[in-house]
Amino acid sequence: MKKIFVLGSTGSIGVNSLNVIRNFAEKFQICGLTTNSRIDELEKQINEFHPELVVVKDEQAADELRSRKLNSRTEILSGDKNLLLAASSLDYDILIGAMVGFSGLAPTIEAVRRGKRIALANKETLVVAGELVTVLCKEHSAEIIPVDSEHSAIYQCLVGEELSEVEKIILTASGGPFLNKEKSFFETATIEQALNHPNWKMGNKITIDSASMMNKGLEVIEAHWLFGLPKEKIDVVIHPQSIIHSMVQFRDGSIKAQLGLPDMKLPIQYALSFPERLQNQFERTNLPLIGSFTFFEPDYNKFECLKLAYDVMESGGTAPCILNAANEIAVDKFLKGKIKFSQIPYLINKALNKLENHFQPDLEVIFNCDKLTRDFVSALV
Ligand code: NDP
Ligand code: MG
Repeated sequence: MKKIFVLGSTGSIGVNSLNVIRNFAEKFQICGLTTNSRIDELEKQINEFHPELVVVKDEQAADELRSRKLNSRTEILSGDKNLLLAASSLDYDILIGAMVGFSGLAPTIEAVRRGKRIALANKETLVVAGELVTVLCKEHSAEIIPVDSEHSAIYQCLVGEELSEVEKIILTASGGPFLNKEKSFFETATIEQALNHPNWKMGNKITIDSASMMNKGLEVIEAHWLFGLPKEKIDVVIHPQSIIHSMVQFRDGSIKAQLGLPDMKLPIQYALSFPERLQNQFERTNLPLIGSFTFFEPDYNKFECLKLAYDVMESGGTAPCILNAANEIAVDKFLKGKIKFSQIPYLINKALNKLENHFQPDLEVIFNCDKLTRDFVSALV
């Protein structure tokens, strides 16, 4: 029986993780759950899974939850400090990193320091601190198994292969809701249009990132750290059907791909059960029904965020942290109706031009860089 701690259990990946775990009660047991503030969903989860502990980041929401009559003897903690404490002291085997944005970094590092398996959905952790996390994983024999569908696909294609024989990896991208729009459309794109993803139902932040293709940019950096590959060996190809989740091309020209429906339950399950594959009843892929696959090159001029991500990956240091923090603030402002969609890359560029890059940053430098960038971009809006 593996004990599972889910960070961000009330979000899209969190809820899907519990959907997976519900099917394997004899293999996985929930010992901890965390949320920012959505306690109604958390209350249902507590009553079903009876975790030992939950952490609600928001103090008021935690008090409200404490006042409710729960059908479980679960301890309720609150605040960022207790989130870290839980990651560093709760008895668990696997951490599911499903918080959104920079907030996922610190608790993930705690799990790495304890040499745990981390089923990682929170790509921002590797974007902002890939170098540090990679070093710490080696030092503490921690294991990161990607949940992000593209990276899970690559991970699966690499089983039984030598990394030295990889010529390149090919990350597929749906292209998001604005694939067929002109760049000028970004001046007037509404929040609703940007949130209307053609293939995936996800949290708001990643859905906006998909519309700007920053999501693919973050994934390029995530792949760089997960698989230790340079920029030249990481390609992006648009595949609007989102059935091929990604591919690996080897030095003999052979390409391996992993296919499946656009449903996060499979990569989540794989990250929990690896190296085993578990029987499940999830819907199967009906290829004749899908009919055809198409592929084309991304437009780097239109999707500036994707280009920026490749650039900061090459720069290294805290440049990816600046990009990430600027993007988080810009996305938040766009979702609040304060800026146009076209201003997202504009603000990120401003931050990258203004803030200093620090190489081989430790955690303190990364936190500092994140804060400085947030303050800088917020002041521009
Ligand atoms: P959601 O916004 O749906 O969920 C985020 C979760 O984190 C919620 O439980 C939320 O709590 C909690 N949370 C948010 N902010 C904080 C904070 N500051 N401190 C503590 N907890 C917080 O996001 P997704 O599930 O869509 O995405 C999660 C991560 O997984 C992201 O990094 C994303 O890039 C990645 N990912 C997601 C995919 C998807 O299909 N959704 C696919 C691949 C990767 P509350 O509910 O209270 O707000
Ligand atoms: Mg993805």
